[in-house]
Amino acid sequence: MSEPLVIVGNGMAAARLVDELTKVAQGRYAIAVIGDEPRLAYNRVLLSSVLAGETASHDIELRPANWWRDRGVTLKYGCVATEIDVGRRELKIANEESIAFSRLILATGSTPLRLNVPGADLAGVHTFRDSRDVDLLLTLAARKKRVVVVGGGLLGLEAAYGLAKAGAPVTLIHLMERLMERQLDAPAADLLKSLVERKGINILLNANTARIHGETRVEGVELADGRRIEADAVIFAAGIRPNVALAKEAGISVNRGVVVDDCLQTGAPDIFARGECAEHRGICYGLVEPAYEQARVLARHLAGGAARYGGSVVATNLKVSGVSVFSAGDFMSGEGREAIVLSDARGGTYKKLVIAEGRLTGAVLVGDTADALWYLELIRNREPIARIRAGMMFGRSLALPAEAA
Ligand SMILES: Cc1cc2nc3c(=O)[nH]c(=O)nc-3n(C[C@H](O)[C@H](O)[C@H](O)COP(=O)(O)OP(=O)(O)OC[C@H]3O[C@@H](n4cnc5c(N)ncnc54)[C@H](O)[C@@H]3O)c2cc1C
Repeated sequence: MSEPLVIVGNGMAAARLVDELTKVAQGRYAIAVIGDEPRLAYNRVLLSSVLAGETASHDIELRPANWWRDRGVTLKYGCVATEIDVGRRELKIANEESIAFSRLILATGSTPLRLNVPGADLAGVHTFRDSRDVDLLLTLAARKKRVVVVGGGLLGLEAAYGLAKAGAPVTLIHLMERLMERQLDAPAADLLKSLVERKGINILLNANTARIHGETRVEGVELADGRRIEADAVIFAAGIRPNVALAKEAGISVNRGVVVDDCLQTGAPDIFARGECAEHRGICYGLVEPAYEQARVLARHLAGGAARYGGSVVATNLKVSGVSVFSAGDFMSGEGREAIVLSDARGGTYKKLVIAEGRLTGAVLVGDTADALWYLELIRNREPIARIRAGMMFGRSLALPAEAA
């Protein structure tokens, strides 16, 4: 008889795990997925395209209903899991129902942070995480509401771009002195800023949100240095917090995320966590690729194999506000490192490759990211680059002409 395996969360991590698991352990588990969003799992990354009007909301579903049915998966969506009874191996869901499990997988993702400033609870303050948020933001844009987006990371830039494209006047405010400071060095961030500003988005850096003004609704944002921006709505896109409450209340060890070992196992027997809610070797990843790598490992482990997860080399490879951006590895210059840089601000291209001990250790690309995956491979494989060094900056086809031909 199949063992009951329950996944909490019907997001990207859950969908990929079902995919991997049904390939390597077909029939071994009777899988149930409990998700609180009222729709089939979808590609959250593409919410930015939906907001920008480039993709329809119904086109971002990861798998159609019959895909889940064909794999025998019981899907409960629009349904919150409220409690784990570790001893009895039962999961309670909001309508008081309990589901028994032999294995439980937490894939509960994250929640956007709301800044703790006066006015943060006014009507007109929103976040950007799920398809309900996107519907709301599109309504704001259609009414030409003046929007302030708080946060100059990937999410904030995507929110600003989508809103501006949909017709809203947008100001993006960022606490730090440059955009995407964790992924980009200063020249790359400067170039990105000017390319985004060309799309009509007003960007304020070194901008610390002090309060949101308004009686009952948002009327403006005041910065710590006294600047004030008139606004009808504020979107917080200044970080995320892993959803750990379910694990914590069950007595499972949590830190920032749910703590897991190299088998993605939590401190409780047969309870695993992965994706954005998990913390592995002190790291909570906020990207899809690590969640997918974890899915492969966990599926093999659940199938009885000896797979281990050793962490991910994180790369950012995306279109940010319509501009291609890539960064990976250790890309800051420093002692013992050499940097090869190509910078064409007018043409909208910046490339920086960082080399240490004869190997590529990091890369930042803005504008032209055609060779991003090749650079990522070189970083991950730690290949010596002496042979290709002269042409490496100009891409794979020039560095390895014979092979490329
Ligand atoms: C707009 C946007 C753009 C992004 N762009 C990129 C990108 O370009 N590249 C990239 O790598 N990453 C990107 N990300 C991040 C990426 O989407 C996440 O890393 C990924 O979705 C994480 O998958 P997950 O399954 O762990 O979490 P999620 O996809 O968040 O899924 C978790 C699910 O669990 C549900 N849940 C939580 N608690 C419960 C409960 N108690 N009961 C039932 N259900 C519950 C949640 O509602 C959610 O549906 C983006 C994110 C957003 C919001």
